[in-house]
Amino acid sequence: MIILKKEKAKTVLHYKHPWVFRNSIKEVSDDHGNGDIVKVSAEDGTPVGFGFYSPKSLITVRMIEFGSDRPGTNWINRKIEKALVLRKRLHINSNAFRLINSEGDFFPGIIVDIYNKTAVIKVQIRGTERLIDRVSSALMEYLSVEKVYLKRDERAARIENLKMPGGYIVGTGSGTEQIMENGLLFSVDFARGQKTGFYLDQRDNRFLTKKIAEDMKVLNLFSYTGGFALYASAGGGSHVCSVESSLSAVKISMENEELNREKLRGKLEWQQGDAVEFLQDCQTFDIIILDPPPFARKRQEVPGALRAYSRLNKFALSKLEKHSFLLTFSCSGGITRQMFKDMLLKGALEVKRNIKVVSELHAAADHPYTVFHPEGEYLKGLLVYAE
Ligand code: SAH
Repeated sequence: MIILKKEKAKTVLHYKHPWVFRNSIKEVSDDHGNGDIVKVSAEDGTPVGFGFYSPKSLITVRMIEFGSDRPGTNWINRKIEKALVLRKRLHINSNAFRLINSEGDFFPGIIVDIYNKTAVIKVQIRGTERLIDRVSSALMEYLSVEKVYLKRDERAARIENLKMPGGYIVGTGSGTEQIMENGLLFSVDFARGQKTGFYLDQRDNRFLTKKIAEDMKVLNLFSYTGGFALYASAGGGSHVCSVESSLSAVKISMENEELNREKLRGKLEWQQGDAVEFLQDCQTFDIIILDPPPFARKRQEVPGALRAYSRLNKFALSKLEKHSFLLTFSCSGGITRQMFKDMLLKGALEVKRNIKVVSELHAAADHPYTVFHPEGEYLKGLLVYAE
């Protein structure tokens, strides 16, 4: 059993925040191992709930259930069923979607993305690594998937001492799937690709790009496998240039262009290289998309990350035509939406661009976060109009 300090127990219970930090713990009363499901109580014996124990991690317990009842034998099935009900109600126009968004679906330490007939699982803590077989069976039971693939997260593996190698848990294959998203086809390489293979979180923002792209000259920076570019071309963008540092991602972008040939309208250009360097010497555009990798994973990295975002966004603002759009994103956990907005508005003043925030952009709806866990809102975006 884990006993929480008096004040901390109150806040965990009151706010139902799923993370119990090491400094909130008064006592660990039994001999628990890494990954065990442990009971959490207040000093006076009030039950708080049950969670995964991770003795070496700063987040020492990740809560699965609050209250006095130990998670029953079918708790995994229940969580998957609930997550699926939400996804069905969202009517996502794709056969690729996020089924389990970790804390956002009250299932900490695990991500499950569905790519057509393959479910890809990413495990972030030791506790969920042990559950892979049970999660796989539940996925086979509730969804029409034929294969389950475990994507190994090397960073989590180091921190959490994860043991399982990546690969197929159910079925066999090449580590790829073809998916359909809003009528466009994409080849997803979940074995070798980034994240679980595709940035599903940007689905709605890609769709927005399609809607505003007609006759526009578009620059898509940090393009990965070409998602935004294909939507922009399908929406009538006159010329769509993408820049990405990973050669394998550029190759998949070209495959994706072939897959959608008859749906594409504007010319596509693919460049392998550094987005920041490109931005310094390029011509002007009517739409610029900035979707860089995370610059700040830890709090200490925030000041440096803000400087990097500022530099990048100022370059982009200075390369925008009149009456143009910037879609700018940050997926850094440490950067809040307000910080991001302040950085951009200050940058606009510095480069003397008159800008308006047209809308706030978010991760797609199949990436929910809960009020109890605001950290779950990692993707912050802005659609900005430059006069
Ligand atoms: N917009 C994409 C996802 C972008 S993820 C989509 O919708 O699918 C960020 C991408 O930036 C990754 O593919 C990464 O390889 C690439 N990247 C990282 N540093 C880069 C750099 N300096 N120049 C260009 N691309 C970079």
